[in-house]
Amino acid sequence: MGLLLGCIADDFTGATDLANNLVRAGMRVVQTIGVPVEPLPSDCNAVVIALKSRTIAPEQAVSQSLAALRWLQAHHVQQVYFKYCSTFDSWYSGDVRGNIGPVTEALMRAMACDFTIATPAFPDNQRTVFKGHLFVGDQLLSDSGMKNHPLTPMTDANLVNVLQAQCQHKVGLIDYRCVAKGAQAIKDRITELQSQGVRIAVVDALSNDDLLRLGPALAGMRLVTAGSGVAIGLPANWGIQPAAESASLPAPRGLQAIVSGSCSIATQGQVAHFVAQGGAAYRLDPLAWPSDTPPKDIADHVVQWAVPHLKNSPVLVYSTADADEVKSVQAQRGTLHAGEHTEQALALVAQGLVKQGVSQLVVAGGETSGACVQALGISQMTIGSQIDPGVPWCFAPSQHATTDGIHLTLKSGNFGSVDFFNKAFKALASPQ
Ligand code: ADP
Repeated sequence: MGLLLGCIADDFTGATDLANNLVRAGMRVVQTIGVPVEPLPSDCNAVVIALKSRTIAPEQAVSQSLAALRWLQAHHVQQVYFKYCSTFDSWYSGDVRGNIGPVTEALMRAMACDFTIATPAFPDNQRTVFKGHLFVGDQLLSDSGMKNHPLTPMTDANLVNVLQAQCQHKVGLIDYRCVAKGAQAIKDRITELQSQGVRIAVVDALSNDDLLRLGPALAGMRLVTAGSGVAIGLPANWGIQPAAESASLPAPRGLQAIVSGSCSIATQGQVAHFVAQGGAAYRLDPLAWPSDTPPKDIADHVVQWAVPHLKNSPVLVYSTADADEVKSVQAQRGTLHAGEHTEQALALVAQGLVKQGVSQLVVAGGETSGACVQALGISQMTIGSQIDPGVPWCFAPSQHATTDGIHLTLKSGNFGSVDFFNKAFKALASPQ
């Protein structure tokens, strides 16, 4: 069948989340870290190119996304999917807010694409879009924990407004009443919006049924932009049906660890739960170290702490903190410095733990995952079965003859149940 769908994801956990939905819908999927440098396995139907562009300035995000697009075009994919976070957040700096719009428009230009959609809806994870407004569970995005995100706070839930402020093209809405009528009504609405000069439409979706109705309306649309939810309705456009073998991975081995740099509310709960259950845990407090401490020194200290604990159980290393603590760190160290310094320290912790024999690794946090995967030198991962919505186990084959490879799961901050960490290792030991 060959490579059908080519995806560009703006962060690493988001890439895995998308790949997970495609696997569940029956596709064989490979996720690459950055533009592929090695040939892909011949049986994959979709590739997800994971960038780390969510929190960089629009010009850089555009240039990285176009580089990924050139690879996809050279490999003749039939459809391109630009994936962003289900909370629709991206670069934020003073007056300049968001790179989703600039990347979307640059991809449209490069593909000579007249029209595309935008929807972060992911009902399996309680992200729904109603009348253009994004809800996280029962709350508007702007009332949710996202208002306090360390890097990309979101204070407006009206996605048409949020996206319009980032775009030159006109942004419109395909609302829930239209989506409920099915694919033909959605296509008709697209034609109507086009006649009004609209080039990008936010699409309401309240349930997976909405996304499955949207899927067929997107057949032949050359560029789709969305969170991971829309992916559930696309593989059927190529006649692909769910199949267990699309998620098979090698058996796990080695020691277990968790590295968490996410300060999202779900992760705070997961860390607290793991600690309350008596798990071995090290809290990395950025303020406990002088600001010019090299991340390597911090990591060496933490890994030394971890070594005796690794034999008995999974160990957790976390910088996860609540909104007040994060604010105080940012006030003293600067937002960008605090973020990057902590990411680097945790990435080197991950590297050190793998050297100590860890080959089952959970990473919590999108940016943190990006830093960890880069530090581990991983370039390609096969996607396995789901632990919780949006979070599958993956397997990265080793480039070194001395190890067999590493199982890892990259958990986006707000994803996963409260017992996620222990549940993940159990799920890997006995897959469904
Ligand atoms: P999420 O997926 O929850 O958004 P990320 O890893 O993407 O998590 O983002 C969290 C950011 O916060 C990272 O840049 C991380 O380094 C930073 N960070 C982690 N712990 C702290 C802390 N204690 N104080 C300040 N910033 C922190």
